[in-house]
Amino acid sequence: MDIACNIKQLKAEIPSGVKLVAVSKTQPVEAITEAYKNGQKIFGENKVQELTAKYEQLSGLDIEWHLIGHLQTNKVKYIAPFVDMIQSVDSLKLLAEINKYAEKNSRIINCLLQFHIAMEETKYGLDYDEAAKIIESEEYKSFRNINICGVMGIASFVEDDEKIKKEFKILKNYFTELKNNFFQGNNNFSEISMGMSGDWKLAIEEGSTIIRIGTAIFGNRNYNNQNKTLFV
Ligand SMILES: *Cc1c(COP(=O)(O)O)cnc(C)c1O
Repeated sequence: MDIACNIKQLKAEIPSGVKLVAVSKTQPVEAITEAYKNGQKIFGENKVQELTAKYEQLSGLDIEWHLIGHLQTNKVKYIAPFVDMIQSVDSLKLLAEINKYAEKNSRIINCLLQFHIAMEETKYGLDYDEAAKIIESEEYKSFRNINICGVMGIASFVEDDEKIKKEFKILKNYFTELKNNFFQGNNNFSEISMGMSGDWKLAIEEGSTIIRIGTAIFGNRNYNNQNKTLFV
């Protein structure tokens, strides 16, 4: 896999308003360094232990780290000192924990609300009413150290473009509803994270502002690597 070439090609194709998150889960730090050298600054990981290990090994680089996988409340403290965005917020309890540890670290942590949009698979994520309930709660209104920047979703892993498109439209609608009902005039609430290696073009057509690309940059994943503490 020619990482440099893949990044160059992706960047040439992506409209300027769309951010590229390079999903580096299971990939060695050498691969991340290679992508970084070719201008890639935002990286996404789905496991806390792996994210923390890579952050420590690559602390000399000004990488923006995103957590994109399910986060247990008892692990928030490990990433709160450095994580730039948590894309996978799916409960008030988790948001409260993120706020607490962000405050302890004197930081404000960017968050996306993750929605369940895949009709096929059961994946983590909120529905609209659950999200509205969180935002309307008194507890949420007391949070000072989180910044809700928008929404995230994972479409069904299928060949059917129409189905995927429908799911992206659902997420876009959630974003618009939330914006109109709760975040009007709040410029921070602006991101729609959708689209992966197989469906990012569709996602951008449907209004994505953040795409999360792994395989199309780094090649296939070796999940055995994820069980090791060190990735060198
Ligand atoms: C792994 C992963 C991706 C990247 O998937 P690819 O198909 O390899 O691009 C994107 N988003 C999430 C949440 C992931 O877990």
